[in-house]
Amino acid sequence: MSVTRVLLGVLIVVVGGHGLVTARQSQQRQSQIKPLALVGGSLIDGTGGPPVRNSVVLIRGNRIEKVGTITSLPVPGGYDPISTDGMTVVPGLWDMHVHLIYSGHPNTGYWFKYASQFENVTIPVAAEQMLMAGVTSVRDLAAPAQAILTVKKRIAEGTLPGPTLYVAGPALTGNRTATLTPQFMAISSEPDARAKARQLIDAGVDVIKMFNLEQMSPDERRAIVAEAHSRGLKVVAHGITDTDIRLGLESGVDDFQHLGWATPEFPPDIVTAIRARVRAGPPLYWTPTVGANGLLNLPYLATRPEFVDDPAGFRGLPAELVDDVRNGWAAYQPGAVDPNTATNVKRRIAQLQALGVILVFGTDEGSVGQLPSQSTWMDADLWVRELGIDPMTVIRKMTSDAARAMGADRETGTISEGKYADVIAVRGDPLRHIDALREPKIVIKHGRRHK
Ligand SMILES: [Zn+2]
Repeated sequence: MSVTRVLLGVLIVVVGGHGLVTARQSQQRQSQIKPLALVGGSLIDGTGGPPVRNSVVLIRGNRIEKVGTITSLPVPGGYDPISTDGMTVVPGLWDMHVHLIYSGHPNTGYWFKYASQFENVTIPVAAEQMLMAGVTSVRDLAAPAQAILTVKKRIAEGTLPGPTLYVAGPALTGNRTATLTPQFMAISSEPDARAKARQLIDAGVDVIKMFNLEQMSPDERRAIVAEAHSRGLKVVAHGITDTDIRLGLESGVDDFQHLGWATPEFPPDIVTAIRARVRAGPPLYWTPTVGANGLLNLPYLATRPEFVDDPAGFRGLPAELVDDVRNGWAAYQPGAVDPNTATNVKRRIAQLQALGVILVFGTDEGSVGQLPSQSTWMDADLWVRELGIDPMTVIRKMTSDAARAMGADRETGTISEGKYADVIAVRGDPLRHIDALREPKIVIKHGRRHK
């Protein structure tokens, strides 16, 4: 029996037993919170519908109770009124590609010297920073299983502040070298691939990530996808190189991550394969992470490293780790920037849209230059300013569309009666200036006000 299997087994027992008591405590805490009324702001409810002026949002317990305007919905007695005058009320934001274990250090392999602090330090710190930045749900795509699943549980119980976590745990990889860091889990055969996927799903992951598809056999790839789909989970994989994309489509991957930019367009055979897949279904998703991985943020940051010095980006992180990230940046030598990057990214995004691929909002938070307090609004800004996508669509991508892609849209993603009260309010109008999302004045998650 592998070490990972033992760890996962222990984890299920420990987390499962512990959850009963604290879930009840958290319910009690929730029922003691006074109902809230957000009054006066412009409401963008996440559906893409026009803003509602002078809105009223009533929140009771962890749910949205009623939504109206100051004329249609007078605030009943007993509510804690919160003025949102001058603000825009928006559903809590989503980020569908984060790495809470990293803290923006340029060398992710090196960062594993802190692996023993992931569970109690780096993941909780990044999670709280993201929550305070208005992000109430994230999908974490690659972390050691025990660390990320434990934090997921603690946040769900209300014992740690953070966004609702949807997690992949370790990525299943075809890389069989002995020195894998624990955000990966190597598979050795088709039955092993199936067994490892099952282990992760039994342990409570929400999505399966595949890595190094070119180092897996076709049977291994298909086994992982079949196992995930049989349990209702989607499979994500990189979509950077043409090989990534060809193998991913062949294996039935649901959601590609990242975007290549070597050439302005996808080659004709890939265009044909994507078109056939979109026609036949299931839907094909793509999370292009347009800021990260040498794309649209890095050329900017590489010439302005002082931006990374902002102490707000490191709030909660022990001094030793802060120094280490800063030293990493000081020594960081970004590769030469291809002058065609922006043009190629835009062209490829336009191709995906024309082919009917569903774009998913995710930032690669935690990777180099993508600090937890900044990466979400910065990528929203890139979607609007660089990709030319209208702000209402971008906000929908960051809310209801993300919830739907995660299969959580019945519970969250819009400001609608009965859904979880994941609500933020920002000063000004993000439809005019998307960077209004930058520093929310109010952050409420599951009915609890954090800011
Ligand atoms: Zn990533």
